[in-house]
Amino acid sequence: MAIVIDGKALAAKVKASVAEEAKSLTRQPGLAVILVGNNPASRTYVTSKEKDCQECGFLSFEHKLPEETREDELLGLIAQLNEDPKVDGILVQMPLPRQLDEQKVIHAIAPEKDVDGFHPVNVGRLVIGEPAFLPCTPAGVMEMFKAYEIPIRGKHCVVLGRSNIVGKPMSSLLLQQDGTVTTCHSKTPNMAEITRQADILVSAVGKRNLVTADMVKEGAVVIDVAMNRNDAGKLCGDVDYPEVAKKASYITPVPGGVGPMTRAILMKNILTAAKMHQGV
Ligand code: NAP
Repeated sequence: MAIVIDGKALAAKVKASVAEEAKSLTRQPGLAVILVGNNPASRTYVTSKEKDCQECGFLSFEHKLPEETREDELLGLIAQLNEDPKVDGILVQMPLPRQLDEQKVIHAIAPEKDVDGFHPVNVGRLVIGEPAFLPCTPAGVMEMFKAYEIPIRGKHCVVLGRSNIVGKPMSSLLLQQDGTVTTCHSKTPNMAEITRQADILVSAVGKRNLVTADMVKEGAVVIDVAMNRNDAGKLCGDVDYPEVAKKASYITPVPGGVGPMTRAILMKNILTAAKMHQGV
């Protein structure tokens, strides 16, 4: 039976150490959160990020904009926040209403306040191995490997999904740690043949029961990034957890796995930004 990677406990540890370090700064770190429209899931995410900020001793500044906000209005607010010395990190909650171009919005955030790690400057730095704000979800997964002393060097790492926020940066980070990386996506034929070769399998697709036990090698490390709902409305991942847990050496649960780590890494990124802005 697999060892269950406890993302909740690990995230609590990360946040506690962030809170401790934040105390030594001369100014409280500050996060500006922009929420456009009335998406209930986005509202929940923003509330939990604000709660995390409070827990870590950070200030949070919420900017709630109406659904019909124009692009120039949103870009104007971002320009203001880029200049605001109380703001160390800027987060625009996605998805945005249709009239707003997400890429344009991401480009408008100053790279040194881009605590989500989505700006092309940070993406580029990540790929070439320079210090950067790392996207929170894949960075959270890397923190799990470190905490559980799971070696990556020379391992075949298979990543399912190639989104800009999870799959691609996940593959880059594993490659940087000397993994041999294969990235699969919706056009990959015979995916099971590839996943069966994985020493480390990370699934970030968003399709429940996509990863079944016959697709997993005995002793593999299985990380489930996805957040889906089952028929009963309960949160679940891509992995058939009960069956895959019998074969894997390590596995992450959903909920209680990658999700809490994503939130914790955001706090870590805000602290890093604040230290940078204070010259520490
Ligand atoms: P996304 O942008 O929708 O990307 C999904 C990826 O999966 C795409 O690259 C897509 O391929 C690929 N894909 C679709 N069907 C596939 C299939 N049958 N076989 C293999 N690959 C397939 O999603 P995302 O934003 O990366 O998020 C992925 C999942 O992680 C979602 O469930 C999301 O809710 C979850 N998530 C969780 C956290 C967390 O904190 N735990 C954070 C972010 C996201 P193409 O590129 O070819 O379309």
